[in-house]
Amino acid sequence: PTSTAPPLDSGILHTADGAQVLLSINVNAPDEIDAIPVATTAGIGLVRSEFAVTSLGDAANEEKQFEIYRHLLDWADGRSVTIRMLDIGGDKPLSGLTEMSLLRGIRLLLARPEIARVQARALLRAAVFGNLRIMLPMVTFPSDVDDIRQIYREESSLLASRGVPHRIPPVGMMVEVPAAALMLDQFENADFFSFGTNDLSQYLVASAREQADFARYQAHAVPAVLRLVAHAVKLAGGKPVSICGDMAGDPSRISDLLAVGLRHFSVAPDRLPTIRSAIVGLNADGTRAAGE
Ligand code: PEP
Ligand code: MG
Repeated sequence: PTSTAPPLDSGILHTADGAQVLLSINVNAPDEIDAIPVATTAGIGLVRSEFAVTSLGDAANEEKQFEIYRHLLDWADGRSVTIRMLDIGGDKPLSGLTEMSLLRGIRLLLARPEIARVQARALLRAAVFGNLRIMLPMVTFPSDVDDIRQIYREESSLLASRGVPHRIPPVGMMVEVPAAALMLDQFENADFFSFGTNDLSQYLVASAREQADFARYQAHAVPAVLRLVAHAVKLAGGKPVSICGDMAGDPSRISDLLAVGLRHFSVAPDRLPTIRSAIVGLNADGTRAAGE
């Protein structure tokens, strides 16, 4: 075999023909990272911040959220940390909030701005302590991003008037609603993009993640998802693009994802070794390396 053994301790990899590929982790629970050596990652590609807010009381608790975000940034030691704003609703209910409404993700945040503002302040303050990026869930239209940016500007002014150290970090978005993926060139107000293939799948095939036979629909949706992702990557206009949906954690899909141009994968920590091996055994166009 011509390829060497995959490096076991880096989040910055190269395909067999030398293209750089970043491998980051998705974080679903606050203490999940403590056992992971940071050098095995390129950082955190997705923090599902829902774990920081498991009750309505947490949603109002700026200090608790700030401490959790700061802990993640400390762990990353200068690497990129992408914290997604609360994606509450749909398959992620919050008692006392989502019973009465079908709103989810950014729509819920904009409908309940008092919740978004608390999280915005915690993130603005945490941003001083590392390489933070803020990601917006379930963005559908460019106006969603504008509306959240307005909240960040206002909360930044408020913190400034109180003399609280803070910084507005890059603000990007999940690409997980088909209408947004089709129109990605219209999102001039987003600083980066990350594909959420879990939601793209369910909304493309008019299924639901909670449904018992969703796995079957999801499997059948793969060609449609790949075609949409390929289209959207071309519309990203040179902005940073990554994928954090479960498809990135499936070694059999890495070839297709490289072929559509993706060079940054974010996966559950237990997927790191298998995805690392898959990347280094392929060329940048997704073809298998000679001797593999
Ligand atoms: C996705 O939809 O692919 C995604 C990464 O977000 P979540 O699974 O948290 O909805
Ligand atoms: Mg999603």
